[in-house]
Amino acid sequence: MPLLEVRNLKVHFPVKHGLFSRVREHVKAVDDVSLAIEPGETLGLVGESGCGKTTLGRAIIRLLEPTAGSVWLDGEDIAGLSSGELRARRRKLQMIFQDPYGSLNPRMTVGQIIGEAIDIHKLADSPAARQKRIDELLRGVGLDPSHSQRYPHEFSGGQRQRIGIARALAVEPKLIVCDEPVSALDVSVQAQIINLLRDLQAAKGLAYLFIAHDLAVVEHISRRVMVMYLGRVVELADSRTICREPAHPYTQALISAVPVVDPDSKRKRIVLPGDVPSPINPPGGCPFHPRCPVAEARCKTEVPALREIKPGHWAACHLAK
Ligand code: SF4
Repeated sequence: MPLLEVRNLKVHFPVKHGLFSRVREHVKAVDDVSLAIEPGETLGLVGESGCGKTTLGRAIIRLLEPTAGSVWLDGEDIAGLSSGELRARRRKLQMIFQDPYGSLNPRMTVGQIIGEAIDIHKLADSPAARQKRIDELLRGVGLDPSHSQRYPHEFSGGQRQRIGIARALAVEPKLIVCDEPVSALDVSVQAQIINLLRDLQAAKGLAYLFIAHDLAVVEHISRRVMVMYLGRVVELADSRTICREPAHPYTQALISAVPVVDPDSKRKRIVLPGDVPSPINPPGGCPFHPRCPVAEARCKTEVPALREIKPGHWAACHLAK
C-alpha cells in the first residue's frame, strides 16, 4: 500500500475582478492530479514557476483546502478531516520551505522553535527529555546543540534550512513535502542539504515529495520524477528515463535547458516560444499546444490523456510513444 496516494486532486481559486463583482472565473492551479508515494521513496516534482507544484504540495498537507479529490495517508482519506482530527495526522506529514528564514519565527530561539513542535504533539514527558530531544535533533542535522539558545537571524541560509529540517523531524514524520528547499541557497550549500536529506532518508526510512524547478537537483535525489505544466501532470517516469528519454515535448525542453559538463555533447537547447499561458483561461485541447514545437492540428482541440506509453512511463501527449 502506498504511504501517500493523491486521487484526482483539484485546487481552483475564484477570481474576482472588482470588490462587488461575482466570481465568474477560476484559476485552475491544480487540475485533476493523481500520484502515489511508497514508504521511503522520493518523488520529484518539477515545472516552471506557476505550474501548480507548490499549490499541490500545500494542498496535500492541507495548508490549502482542495476543491475536489482525495488525499490518502496510510490508507486514510485526510482531505475531509476536521482541523482537530487533522492535527494528530500532521505528525506523519511535514513540510520544509524554500525560504527557511520566512518560515522560522524570528522572535523564538532555535530551541523554542523545535521545542514547540515537540510540545504540540506531547513527545517529551519532562523538560530534561525535551532538551535532550532538541539536542539530538540539532546534532542529527549537523548543528551544535549550543545553537539552541540562538535566534534564526544568527545563522546562514544553509544552517537555517537545517533548523527547518530539524523542526520537521521533531515529530517523527513519515513523509516530508520539500518545497524548493535548496533553490535559495548557494550551489555548494545545495549539495550539503541534498546529502543531508538523503542521509536522513536512509537512516529513518523517510519519504519525500521533492518540489523544484531545477531538474538537475531533482534527478539527484528522486527515484521517480513527475513533470507539471499549467496545473496538470504531463509526464511521470523514473528519473533516469525522464532525463535520458523524455517523451513529452515540454519535458524535452526542460531537459535541454539543464547545463551539460561534457564538451562533446550534441544536445541542443530547445527554446520555447512565449510564456506560460494564464491558468485562468488555459488553451483548449492540449494546454501546451501554443508553445509546442511539434504540435499538430488535433492538438488544438483534443486534450491528450495521461497514458502509460511503456511500463512505469506516463505521458500526456498525442505523439508520445
Ligand atoms: Fe505537443 Fe500535441 Fe503533444 Fe501537446 S499533444 S505536447 S501540443 S504534440
